[in-house]
Amino acid sequence: MLIKNNLDKILETVPGGVTLVAVSKTKPISDIQEVYDAGHKVFGENKVQEMVQKYEALPKDIEWHMIGHLQRNKVKYMAPFVSLIHGVDSFKTLKEIDKQAQKNNRIIPCLLEAKIAQEDSKFGLSFAEIEEILTSDAFKELKNIQISGLMGMASYTDDKEQIAKEFRSLKNFFEKLKKELPKAENINLTTLSMGMSGDYKIALANGSNMIRVGSAIFGARNYIA
Ligand SMILES: *Cc1c(COP(=O)(O)O)cnc(C)c1O
Repeated sequence: MLIKNNLDKILETVPGGVTLVAVSKTKPISDIQEVYDAGHKVFGENKVQEMVQKYEALPKDIEWHMIGHLQRNKVKYMAPFVSLIHGVDSFKTLKEIDKQAQKNNRIIPCLLEAKIAQEDSKFGLSFAEIEEILTSDAFKELKNIQISGLMGMASYTDDKEQIAKEFRSLKNFFEKLKKELPKAENINLTTLSMGMSGDYKIALANGSNMIRVGSAIFGARNYIA
């Protein structure tokens, strides 16, 4: 019941039009089932194998989001069912997703991951690299992916103003892209994925419409995944 209470508390604070991705990485099937039974059907995982196992064990109307850093050789295992891939940070990865999506006769929605944190350790593309990918000729050839938006992670810090600044910079870039990018079949910028348990309120105040919340729903993880 604790998990369901956590979920309800968060849903109360999430405005309409915002998608809550319940991040279930490292958590057992029974925990996910509890959230599912409460009516929530969008879950995020950061390891492909773990997501595939959970997909196989759980109801098929769940939307599975891949939120972790991607290894290209694993894309094929989730290509049949993944709903949204958040952390795409290279053209090579996008090309592999396109290839596997084609094999499965579908279009896979993707978010490009932007590097907005000050720390060096975070993955992600610069804004210039994102523009370069989206305007390249090679990108136009990818018919089986769709870029649905951007994803970003703020610095891990107590400085709320710093976090807000980073989220705001991504929101501004997202709006600029929406205005300035030429129309393309494989681009439909609707989704801005920003905010986790510790900073989702700041993200929502700064334009996020998709938050990825794990520990605030399921409790602390036993190891950093
Ligand atoms: C684990 C993870 C989350 C959720 O983290 P919490 O702090 O538990 O909410 C969100 N996004 C990404 C990319 C993650 O890896």
